[in-house]
This record gives sequence, C-alpha cells and structure tokens, in this order.
Amino acid sequence: MAFRIAQALSSIGKLALAAAIGASLVAGDVVAQQKQPSPGSAKAIFGGVQLPTQGGPQPFGFYAKGCMAGAEALPTDGPNWQAMRLSRNRRWGNPAMLSVIEQLSRDAARYDGWPGLLVGDIAQPRGGPMFNGHASHQIGLDADIWLTPMPAYRMTAEQRETLPFTTMLQKNAFLTINPNVWTPAHARLLMRAASYPQVERIFVNPAIKKKMCDTWTGDRTNLGKLRPEYGHDSHFHIRIKCPPGAAGCKPQAPVASGDGCDKSLAWWFSPAPWAKPKPPKPDAKPVKPREVMVSDLPKACQAVLDAPSVSSVRAATYGGGSAAEALGVAPAAEPAASDEELPPVGPVPDDKPGFQ
Ligand SMILES: [Zn+2]
Repeated sequence: MAFRIAQALSSIGKLALAAAIGASLVAGDVVAQQKQPSPGSAKAIFGGVQLPTQGGPQPFGFYAKGCMAGAEALPTDGPNWQAMRLSRNRRWGNPAMLSVIEQLSRDAARYDGWPGLLVGDIAQPRGGPMFNGHASHQIGLDADIWLTPMPAYRMTAEQRETLPFTTMLQKNAFLTINPNVWTPAHARLLMRAASYPQVERIFVNPAIKKKMCDTWTGDRTNLGKLRPEYGHDSHFHIRIKCPPGAAGCKPQAPVASGDGCDKSLAWWFSPAPWAKPKPPKPDAKPVKPREVMVSDLPKACQAVLDAPSVSSVRAATYGGGSAAEALGVAPAAEPAASDEELPPVGPVPDDKPGFQ
C-alpha cells in the first residue's frame, strides 16, 4: 500500500503543484458552491420550509435524491454534544440517525477519550436538496460530525456560528495528516462510529483513511466502512442504512468486503481524481446543467411538501420537548424570550428565516 502510494506520488512529480491542487479540494463537504437556486427549484422550495411534517418518520428516495416526513430535531445540547451552525436549520433527521449521534456521543466520551461531539448538518426539516454544501443529506440518514472535540463549556449561538473548522491536513503538503492536530482519539472516534451495525458508511478525507489504514492496530472488521472522499478533512460524515420498515427508502449497495486499504485508496493518491475535466470538443453542444425540480424527486416528496407542519420545533424535538432537561443539561441563564418555536433550554438558535 505504502509502496503503491509512493509510486503514485512520484508519478505526480511536481509535489508543490499537487499540494496546490489538493488544498483547493479540501473545503469540507463544499465540493461545489452552487449559485443561488432559482425560485421553483427543489433547492429553493425545500430550503424555504421551516418545520417538518406531522406523523411518523419516513425517508423517501435516496440519500442524494429524496426527502423525508416526520423528521425530529436534534436538541441543540446534550450531555455530550452541541449542535453547530444553528442558523442553518439543518439539525433535522430520522430518529434512527439521531439515536446514533446520541449513542456515539455517549460512547466516545465514556470509552474513547473524546469529550463530546460537535454536530454539523443533518438535514432540512423535510430533507430534500440543499442550497449549498451537500449532494446528499436529503433523507435524514446522513450527519456531519466535526473532527474538533467539544469544548468543556457550552458555546453561545454566536460561537456556534463562527467557530472555525480545523482541517486535519497539513498545509502545503499533498494529502498528508497534520500530526499536530490528529490524535489517537480521532481514530477511536471514527472506529467507534463504524462499529455500529446501523452505520453503513463514513466519509473521510483520503488522507484520514490512509492514516487509519497505516496506524489502526485494533479490530479492522469495520475499517472498510471508512470511505475516502473529497473534502471531509475537518468533519466526517456518517450515513446509516435505511431503517427497518422504511419502504420508500432506496438502499445503497453495501460496502465491499475488506478494509479498503487497497488500490481503491491508492487511486486517490494518483493524479486521476485531481485532473481537470477534459475540455469539450469544439463542435459539441454546450450542456447546460438543469436544476433539480420537485418533480425529479420521488412522487412522495410533493406530498411531503403539502403535508401539515408540526406546531413548533419543540413539538418535534428528539426525546420530547423537554429533551434537554431530561438529558441533564443545565437550562440557559437567559430563557428564550417569547419563542415557542425554539427549544426551551440551551443556547438559543440565532434564527434567521430565509438565511442562505
Ligand atoms: Zn456530509
């Protein structure tokens, strides 16, 4: 493996150039910052919905092409987690996903020396495509977790908006882990997440996957669930299987057997994934990418949009309206002023309707 990678690297030749290419492709999930979606597009419509539907949770369609009914909100605070970037209103998910986050937060703190999770985007209130940042996260079964450990204090909503991401990669080096930020606890956290049977895939930067291949000395049974992907250098992305009984959920093929420390990983260290797309032939008709419309999604998604809302965020909060108290989180010093829409305790989201 190491040999193959060394070969691939030497075939790239100009390492500085490769570093420049690599650095431009490591900005989190943000592979492509799309332009503002037009009104009427699925992105604009799903992105404008503030609350989930009533009723039980149902994913419809595929991770990267679908929507969901009956989403629940991850409480902004748990004993071992804090939700980040609250203004994005993307802490909605299938309760099966939220329970994995809750369990990981607890297990990681108890067994892995990881004090708690900073939880990034899960999904929009009714799922669907997003304005920016993700191709998937559409059916409530994907969640981003920061590779930054939770601080010992409760962050304010403002701090949660502005805390910068920390890349695990070394600057000015091609796909290389920065030993000053990466720790064995990071590795344990990833393998803990991979150990859960509901978890099907975990997306990480290729440099992180390589680091795990080179250094993980424990049980490697679940190492294959760690999938190298562009970005994912300051957070990792957990994807769970379609929950039992979710008839409208389109499953993804299971990961190949083995630890994935093979030529599929070596490929990332070759020029191929970083090559510029070939210019179109001069006589080729320019293809204008068409925006995704609601009619492109599973039929059920129009019904999801038409369905009545829950009465408030609180009514649809995972664990019940008093979830945060039940979890033993101290109430915020300043209760939210007259805001039935917001969870009763914990830092108050900086609510910006229509933001983004
Ligand atoms: Zn993600």
